[in-house]
Amino acid sequence: MSGECILCGKCLEVCPLLRATGREELGPRAKADLCRILSEDPNLLSETDVAKLVGFCLGCGRCREVCSQGVDVPALVAGLRGAHPDFKAWLWKTWLMQAKNVWSPGSAAAKLFPEQLVPEKFGPMLKMLAGLKGGPGLEPCLEVAKYPDTYRGRKMLLFAGCTANFVQTRWLSTALKLLDGLGVDVLPDDFKCCGSGLKAAGFADESSSMAAHNVRVWRDAGHPPIVTFCASCHAGLQAYEGCFESLKEQEMWQNMLLSLSSVLLDTPFVLSHNMPETLAYHQPCHTRGDDSDHVLLNDAFKDRMVGATTKQCCGFGGVMRLAAPGLTDPVNQQCWDALAGADVVITGCSACVTQLAATAPDGVKVGHWLELIK
Ligand code: SF4
Ligand code: SF4
Repeated sequence: MSGECILCGKCLEVCPLLRATGREELGPRAKADLCRILSEDPNLLSETDVAKLVGFCLGCGRCREVCSQGVDVPALVAGLRGAHPDFKAWLWKTWLMQAKNVWSPGSAAAKLFPEQLVPEKFGPMLKMLAGLKGGPGLEPCLEVAKYPDTYRGRKMLLFAGCTANFVQTRWLSTALKLLDGLGVDVLPDDFKCCGSGLKAAGFADESSSMAAHNVRVWRDAGHPPIVTFCASCHAGLQAYEGCFESLKEQEMWQNMLLSLSSVLLDTPFVLSHNMPETLAYHQPCHTRGDDSDHVLLNDAFKDRMVGATTKQCCGFGGVMRLAAPGLTDPVNQQCWDALAGADVVITGCSACVTQLAATAPDGVKVGHWLELIK
């Protein structure tokens, strides 16, 4: 439930879209106000104008994090998107619902497609597809020195997410190898997509049915811990509501979600000689609380990491990438400005890898930190 906006402006300080464009009408306060006005008079704007306006949000959630009134702008925008579906939302829904069939072959084909032949409205979609497979991949340079016994014998589920399941299967195999080394008994699962992308695009019913399915898988497995390695999936799972048998079960679900890096925090790594000269870390917008990916990588690389972005959004933006690519580009550029000087950029979110790999400057490699593990 979203609170009432008091127009304090606190959220203006953190919105990456506002920072990159300088246009306050694209910021969270304007959106909260627009939603209030439309709830009072739904006919104030034309269908076309509303559909256009709701495209202008990256869904990063930074405004929600700082709002003292509990105003959830991305949820308000998702509500409007659901009420005013358009072609871009349909395209985004197809992209997410057909991940298994489309992403892998589409990603390979998109890289071969001559840019001048791409119809304008499909351009951003093809760019995203091309980024899914990432670049040439990172050279592994981190090896586990010794696995601790902390989690030995524990039963856990692994929520790999669509990108690792259907395109970046090496992330999945490395995650399984690490959990095996830790002695974790990884249970079989039948998880679907986390549903967060559909929820942000306004497809509440489809997203709720995925959430209900995933919770059922966990319940049937006996409520074990669930390990994730994508910040966006993790945040999407954390936000589940309305699909639990009780509040207690919902709290248990939230406590059982563990990022893979947090499980590895007491695992020592050794660095090999081929580590990149200059390495930077990109913090995903959907990382909440302590960033265990960053802690793990900082420990492993000691003082060899040249930089980290904590305030910049990569500009992926989900449905906004399709609705207004011209506005996500300056957000993406700000991110690259902050990462300048790095040969290799690592992160822990499949959407950020996709976006940064599709937009990396010449000579810069991008990947998930799992690619660095031998
Ligand atoms: S959305 Fe929240 S932080 Fe932003 S102006 Fe309104 S009350 Fe303030
Ligand atoms: S979700 Fe992100 S892009 Fe959208 S209004 Fe909030 S801070 Fe801005």
